[in-house]
Amino acid sequence: MENKQLQKALQTLPENLAGYLKPIVESDSFSATISALQFEKLMSQANLSDKQLRLALLPLAASYSISPISNFCVGAIVRGLSGRLYFGANIEFANSPLGQSVHAEQSAISHAWMKGEAGIQDITINYSPCGHCRQFMNELNTAQTLMVQLPEREAKSLQAYLPESFGPNDLNIDTLLMDDKPLAHHINSDDRLLNKAVEALNISHAPYSGNYGGVAIKLDDNVIYTGAYAENAAFNPSLPALQVAIIQMQMAGKNVAQISAVALVELKTGQISHQASTQSVLDALDLDIAVKYLSI
Ligand SMILES: [Zn+2]
Repeated sequence: MENKQLQKALQTLPENLAGYLKPIVESDSFSATISALQFEKLMSQANLSDKQLRLALLPLAASYSISPISNFCVGAIVRGLSGRLYFGANIEFANSPLGQSVHAEQSAISHAWMKGEAGIQDITINYSPCGHCRQFMNELNTAQTLMVQLPEREAKSLQAYLPESFGPNDLNIDTLLMDDKPLAHHINSDDRLLNKAVEALNISHAPYSGNYGGVAIKLDDNVIYTGAYAENAAFNPSLPALQVAIIQMQMAGKNVAQISAVALVELKTGQISHQASTQSVLDALDLDIAVKYLSI
């Protein structure tokens, strides 16, 4: 197993659970997700309730954290509408402004989104969600029903954690994050990376600025990961497409040092652009990569 932190986290789990989880987590096909069927089996094998098992899995999610600034590892697990569970963890970028950071909740949600989930049922987190994340989650198409589970707490709805909320409705927006309303843009190019970025653009959420956009990153093993931009009614909690792509790579157990090429495609009609900020995050990572950029 490549992820040493994951291996360590596995060792901290109760012995019977670790025994049942090991073959799942150590399988080559493990993608930081647990299927509904695997979850059911684990519950009965380890004799844990749904809530107990999700809480027990949190150290595995947190083991994906990249937190060189805070050394504070946050893990989140979301359950998609399909019943599959997706891990997420915080990511910090040394040498970049703190605004570029990814919170664990954003990570788990965009992980599920990029793997095709159409909504989120519940989220389990090892620390109370910050205000930024409560606002980020209020953009979801399931914001009215989403349940939040913390250790040593009863589950509560997102709306209980975010009373008198501000959201898309206040700006007369009715397309929500994770809604299945793909755009249909395409480009006449045989550049695989740019085409992948367009695929991500087509599912991006940018109803406020119109800056629909997608990023594709290629690693030194030639595997490509994509990220769609996730905009927010309160603007600042918006999650850039580069970060979403990096989350997918991180959840696959890869490292940012493996990035060999990056493409960003945005719509010309948008009121903002992520071109400069995407390049600056890559520059701060010292990757010596010029972003391949297209506005369509
Ligand atoms: Zn947060």
